Amino acid sequence: MSEQRVPAETDPGRGGLDLRADCANCFALCCVALAFTASADFAVDKDAGQPCGNLLPDFRCGVHARLRPEGYQGCTVYDCFGAGQRISQVTYAGQDWRSAPQTARQMFALLPVVRQLHELLRYLTEALELEPARPLHADLRGALTRIERLAQGSPDEILALDVAAHRQEVNVLLLRTSELVRAGALGAAGGAAGRGARAGKGRGAGRRGGAKKNRRGADLIGANLKGADLYGADLRGAYLIGADLRGADLRVADLIGADLRDADLSGADLTGSFFLTQAQLNAAKGDAGTGLPPALTRPSHW
Ligand code: SF4
Repeated sequence: MSEQRVPAETDPGRGGLDLRADCANCFALCCVALAFTASADFAVDKDAGQPCGNLLPDFRCGVHARLRPEGYQGCTVYDCFGAGQRISQVTYAGQDWRSAPQTARQMFALLPVVRQLHELLRYLTEALELEPARPLHADLRGALTRIERLAQGSPDEILALDVAAHRQEVNVLLLRTSELVRAGALGAAGGAAGRGARAGKGRGAGRRGGAKKNRRGADLIGANLKGADLYGADLRGAYLIGADLRGADLRVADLIGADLRDADLSGADLTGSFFLTQAQLNAAKGDAGTGLPPALTRPSHW
């Protein structure tokens, strides 16, 4: 949609790839293709394929400036990673689903698939910025090229993809990337990589108890982690919904897929954390004292 779900708070484009949602060049695919369930995130139910009642004829959102107060918080935490404009402007060459309704069903079906491909591209490009992952850079670049080619396919080709298999292939690389980055930060080799994981800046961390930092997939819903030392932690897929992370040290933590909905990051330090997306941040709470990775933006509701 234009006038957007996550205006000015989407992930930045990385590595020259267009991985940031550009709603002005999208035919509001997420406002139509996705189903909503009335909840704290959405004010109403909506079936997949049915245009949202707030969608204007020109593909802008009629409540864009009031999404949260109108009960559409879920719209502010969705990021297509640029899949919407690729489908709209590249795959369908600028032909929208209103003027060519025979394309609508296929166009909407493409969104979740291309979004997954773009999400992988986003993580791969970030991994290529992590100096400790340099031994993997050739493999990461190869994967990036392969996934980008897949995203350039025809609609039929894209819909026939085994996306789960491609995700698994990339995930292996991202796991190895994470291990290299965090091992350096935790001083496994005597430890100087630390906070300087990104861009090769050695800032030195020393040993920080790596064995206690594996919280992958952990159920930390509502946990009291105020002031916790999570430096270099593996928080992949951790459930941190509503967790109290005020003042926590999350530097060089792997946050890929961590569920941060309503987690309180006030005063927490996330500088140097990696695989953290803008949508994750948008779903959390925080304040002016929250330290962020430089590529991400402080959500406007903090
Ligand atoms: S309220 Fe509807 S039109 Fe507005 S951003 Fe959300 S889904 Fe799109």
